[in-house]
Amino acid sequence: MTPLAVLDKATGGGELSAAEAVILFESPADCTPDLMRAADEARRLRCGDRVTYVVNRNINFTNVCVKRCGFCAFSRGHNAEASYFLSPDEVIRRTREACDLGATEVCLQAGLPPRMKGSYYIDLCREVKRAVPEVHMHAFSPEEVLYGASCSGWTVERYLDALRDAGLGSMPGTSAEILDDRVRDVISPGRITTADWLRVISGAHERGIRTSSTMMFGHVESHAHRAAHLALLRETQKQTGGFTEFVPLSFIHTEAPMYRKGLIPGIQPGPSSDDVIRTYAIARLMLRGWIDNIQASWVKQGPALAARCLQAGANDFGGTLINESISTAAGATNGQLMRPSEIRAWIRSIDRIPAERSTVYRLIREFAGEPDEPHPLDTFQVTACA
Ligand code: SF4
Repeated sequence: MTPLAVLDKATGGGELSAAEAVILFESPADCTPDLMRAADEARRLRCGDRVTYVVNRNINFTNVCVKRCGFCAFSRGHNAEASYFLSPDEVIRRTREACDLGATEVCLQAGLPPRMKGSYYIDLCREVKRAVPEVHMHAFSPEEVLYGASCSGWTVERYLDALRDAGLGSMPGTSAEILDDRVRDVISPGRITTADWLRVISGAHERGIRTSSTMMFGHVESHAHRAAHLALLRETQKQTGGFTEFVPLSFIHTEAPMYRKGLIPGIQPGPSSDDVIRTYAIARLMLRGWIDNIQASWVKQGPALAARCLQAGANDFGGTLINESISTAAGATNGQLMRPSEIRAWIRSIDRIPAERSTVYRLIREFAGEPDEPHPLDTFQVTACA
């Protein structure tokens, strides 16, 4: 099949196989405009011209971690000078401050601290929710849920039930990278397996805990790996319907140990801009009708490229973040906070309509024009970087 024939099938509403997605990934460079057009049209038909964002705060409450993923420049050993562990009171203080600044969500993710009390995540969730009941807790990757379950001696299912009962609203579908164990063994030996990632995600969806879905690309994976990853997410969504969105995440190589130390022969320094655009477009075409929200990541790609992704199938600009630590540690230079007015300006720069959403994509407010009053975050000064 030629790339144009695959695009014809996609624009006619046909569901692309993984093999057909590979044909698109490997199409000549001059196919990029056609790919973008097809994905942009698919986006317009499914999502219209509204581009959403969420006002949220990241709280990476510790960088102490028992694992050493090759792409991670964030984690530290527990005796390391730069290690930190925020107390529950500090997590609550930051959550309350975020809500006072107009945030609707806090995103809690962190390292896996050694000798952690099994109920730690559950207790933290309960305490934060008790102190700030209006906040949506978007917290704990499948890796963290599995770690919490194993530290407590509970099943994943029981642990998920307890998190939900403690007030967990939704989960980030991170720790996915590429869902192929041969790739995972190269970039992050000892990380959660593909089967366990799917087990935690499906268990969450079965309990009404929705999750995002992600893919980290531009390191050692092949186009076939990316296509199979997208097909696996689509199959999971057909079974559970629990994914809120798909977030392609560019590998940030600068400080990543596996790149900096030359640990993996042939590793790429992240994807090129053209590769990012094409990956967004192919994701939109692969996932259409199943996962309709595709998020551009300003923190990974930078706002200008993220805005171009909005013209290649994406319909969401992510969150304000306030304290982004993980990509920044890996060498991303796009800052820790994107103010709501800046997000809206990027969205308007491509003639689309900005709108604030909740974590699970409920519309909060559409901005036909700019509001008279500045958002509290528009004048907030970031002081903490952890
Ligand atoms: S990616 Fe997560 S689990 Fe892996 S080393 Fe970093 S903090 Fe630890």
